[in-house]
Amino acid sequence: MPTTTKAIVANSATTPLSAGSIPRRDVGPTDVEFDILYCGVCHSDLHTARNEWATWPTIYPCVPGHEIVGKVTKVGSKVTKFKAGDTVAVGCMVDTTCGTCPSCSEGLEQYCETGGTAFTYNSPDPRGTAPATYGGYASRIVAHERFVLRVPEKLDLAGVAPLLCAGITLYSPLKHWGAGPGKKVGIVGLGGLGHMGVKFAHAFGAKTVLFTTSPSKIEDGKRLGADEVVVSKNADEMKKHERSFDLIVSTVAVSHNLDPFVSLLKRDASLVLVGAPEHPHPSPTVFNLLLGRRSIAGSAIGGIPETQEMLDYCAEKNIVSDIEIIKPDYINTAYERMLKGDVKYRFVIDMKAL
Ligand code: NAP
Ligand code: ZN
Repeated sequence: MPTTTKAIVANSATTPLSAGSIPRRDVGPTDVEFDILYCGVCHSDLHTARNEWATWPTIYPCVPGHEIVGKVTKVGSKVTKFKAGDTVAVGCMVDTTCGTCPSCSEGLEQYCETGGTAFTYNSPDPRGTAPATYGGYASRIVAHERFVLRVPEKLDLAGVAPLLCAGITLYSPLKHWGAGPGKKVGIVGLGGLGHMGVKFAHAFGAKTVLFTTSPSKIEDGKRLGADEVVVSKNADEMKKHERSFDLIVSTVAVSHNLDPFVSLLKRDASLVLVGAPEHPHPSPTVFNLLLGRRSIAGSAIGGIPETQEMLDYCAEKNIVSDIEIIKPDYINTAYERMLKGDVKYRFVIDMKAL
């Protein structure tokens, strides 16, 4: 019998989120149940609550939240990795009906080739507890142990929460495309994802350049690890960097012209898009790509083994997110502030206050 859990619910695309309740399944043999302490607020939560992604329509009621940290209350009979009292986390995935396709086998569950991965919210619920999976804006969650991460005890737990999406979404492409010593790496946008990109690119030893539309963020960009900050609306400043980047990762949450960034890539370099705007970007100029053999690529979060690697790396380097802790009833104001770029640099909900 599913039990009822308190949650913050989006009931339609146009109404504010409000307090409500949702069912959570009983703990099965391979499940881990935990009380949620903190949940980060990702721009994807806002896109989903407001049904902005045509390719991934929202099933209502919807409970967003995929940056989740808490304490284990119960584990299933076959669970060996976790026990009651452990500090754990869940990111963007909670379950799978696959686990065996080439991508799942390589620990890249986010790219499951059978569509079997259940994302933390707004995926059809593979267990049938509800029409959709419900995320971390809630008091409690149950997830398959494969998707539960160990949280290093020494890190600040509220600051850890955003690592589960914002952190891994930048860690993974920076690793994949080889950010490190001798490389010049650009991060576009200083929001939740972007500020983690600046921290990781700097920690990996790359020359790190932040592109921002907000001159007010220049000092923070440097404090967070950028060697240089470029205001991307200033064409003269942009021109100084033409053909000089090995990699640029864009976190921008709205549709925009990609050409000014493609022009900054060296021959054979890549612009990697991780931002997922509601409307498509205008098509880039083809000649700008072929005269330089440049690439535009995309990347989605990171697999479970790499997410654990990132958490352990963060413990070693003492990296967490820069956050503003909010109460659950502040969520609608937080969304409005996020749309204005007024976040330093991730809202984290204190879920104990729900
Ligand atoms: P966020 O905190 O709102 O940050 C987005 C940043 O983009 C803003 O802070 C702003 O930085 C910049 N920006 C906003 N409007 C802009 C404009 N008109 N022109 C240029 N830059 C603008 O959002 P987030 O949580 O980091 O998420 C960013 C995007 O990534 C969202 O679309 C989200 O859905 C997506 N996402 C993707 C993945 C994935 O797996 N690929 C995972 C999580 C999130 P400045 O003020 O510095 O310009
Ligand atoms: Zn996210």
